[in-house]
Amino acid sequence: MIRSIVVVGGGAAGWITAGLIAARYRCGEPGAPISVTLVESPTVGIIGVGEGTWPTMGQTLRQMGIAEGDFIRACDATFKQGSKFIGWVTGAPDDAYYHPFSLPQGFDEVSLAARWQEKHRDIPFAKAVGIQAALCDAKRAPKPMDAADYASVENHGYHLDAGKFAAFLADHCIRRLGVRHQLADIVGVKAHENGDIASLACADGREIPGDLFIDCSGTAALLIGKHYKVPFISRKDTLFIDRAIAAQVLYPQPDTEIESATLSTATEAGWIWDIGLPTRRGVGHVYSSAHTTPDAAKAALAAHIARLGTDPASLQFRELAFEPGHRETFWVQNCVAVGMAAGFLEPLEASALVMVELAAAMIARHLPAAREGMDTVARNFNSICRFRWDRIVDFLKLHYVLSQRDDSAFWRDNRRAESIPESLTDLLTLWRHQPPVNNGFLSPYDPFPASSYQFVLYGMGFETLPCHLEQVPERVALADMHLQKARERNARIPGLLPGHRTLIEAVRQRMHIKG
Ligand SMILES: Cc1cc2nc3c(=O)[nH]c(=O)nc-3n(C[C@H](O)[C@H](O)[C@H](O)COP(=O)(O)OP(=O)(O)OC[C@H]3O[C@@H](n4cnc5c(N)ncnc54)[C@H](O)[C@@H]3O)c2cc1C
Repeated sequence: MIRSIVVVGGGAAGWITAGLIAARYRCGEPGAPISVTLVESPTVGIIGVGEGTWPTMGQTLRQMGIAEGDFIRACDATFKQGSKFIGWVTGAPDDAYYHPFSLPQGFDEVSLAARWQEKHRDIPFAKAVGIQAALCDAKRAPKPMDAADYASVENHGYHLDAGKFAAFLADHCIRRLGVRHQLADIVGVKAHENGDIASLACADGREIPGDLFIDCSGTAALLIGKHYKVPFISRKDTLFIDRAIAAQVLYPQPDTEIESATLSTATEAGWIWDIGLPTRRGVGHVYSSAHTTPDAAKAALAAHIARLGTDPASLQFRELAFEPGHRETFWVQNCVAVGMAAGFLEPLEASALVMVELAAAMIARHLPAAREGMDTVARNFNSICRFRWDRIVDFLKLHYVLSQRDDSAFWRDNRRAESIPESLTDLLTLWRHQPPVNNGFLSPYDPFPASSYQFVLYGMGFETLPCHLEQVPERVALADMHLQKARERNARIPGLLPGHRTLIEAVRQRMHIKG
């Protein structure tokens, strides 16, 4: 029987995975069918970056029984309503577009893309079909002051302090969800005759036995990589970014408005993220080491920080290197990898933590009671995860392929045909003739909804040719009605919602928010 789950690693991946499984199987209560133990190294730290999340995070936290206000206070979290891409299309001073989290108005009924292209191109796509771009511009919150925990007018994820997040989850998982916690350096693996892991060997001589081992050991990939030697598939031929340099920047004034989109500013050889937390911004430059040098990348980040009004000489910079890619398979024998141990592409669109949430939820839902059922679950898990990694590669590459920037080799190389996956070329051909819509073409396992493809395509000036379905008079009228509704909401709602900082400060002071 599968009774003892051992999670290796206490970063965000380890604690989210342990927490979702422990919450589902009520591990903190007598009679729970399984136990969850998380073991982490007392000497190896967590990666400590990763401050942007998806709207899925609200659901994940709720499933773990976490109150939104507690999370916001403990993790210095703010509301993320999407991403703003600055300088990605042409690099001109006014070049910016939004990929908001809320769906376009009426998206389940009709696509507004064709009608917008035909009649409303003077307004940027995101602003014509919804209110979230305007909310972000005005630095408004996605919900009113008196909204209950997790209730919202507009869809949102969070920005958060990665170090505080892991510590907060650890405390909650141990105290509330019955996750057993051990500090130990894992130095080896003892295997059964059939190749399954029997136990983990610790540096201090202890052994940690288990029935299922979840490798959340980050880039160390102790079990999936070092023990099972599952090949790592590099995606660097498609996604060139492989270095990061990060800093924390204080606001010029403590009451400076907080952005509620991740600002992604294109640079000569990558892009700069800028994430607004209550007391500071998290700022970093991710770049391709084949297209610039660490010194030039640092200089570009320093110049960006100087433009924010902070002297970069006063800051500490942290440098990280990574290989964009993922494992060939993720679940082998009685071991499954989640988080950086499974793979990492790049921070664009914050797709790493959502992959953790999806993988952890799937493990929790499909956990077999007996070993005999595990290989079938593993095969299914592997094919769904591989599909998701491929779809994320396509979606991220889309941002680079649609760019018209011609000012550096990085942007030109990104449009080289041999760097573009065939699957993306195929989709672009399809979308030339019909917009991405909720018509069942995209798989339910695609991490990005059709609306996300629309926001990037039409935000970046992609042209879809007139398509039959969008010319049916009834659908044209429906699209016009929803475009009119979006205009009305844009005129009315932003003024009714509080400033982002106002709401965050209220939550931090335990005011107004229920729950
Ligand atoms: C520059 C950058 C920016 C990013 N931005 C985002 C973002 O905006 N949004 C997003 O979703 N993701 C982002 N990510 C990814 C995100 O940071 C990670 O997916 C997330 O933090 C999960 O990491 P992890 O838990 O897998 O690994 P880690 O945090 O590295 O944790 C690894 C754990 O394994 C333990 N361990 C290692 N070796 C041993 C050993 N021998 N014995 C015992 N324990 C061991 C460590 O102690 C640690 O607890 C970013 C990543 C990078 C590099």
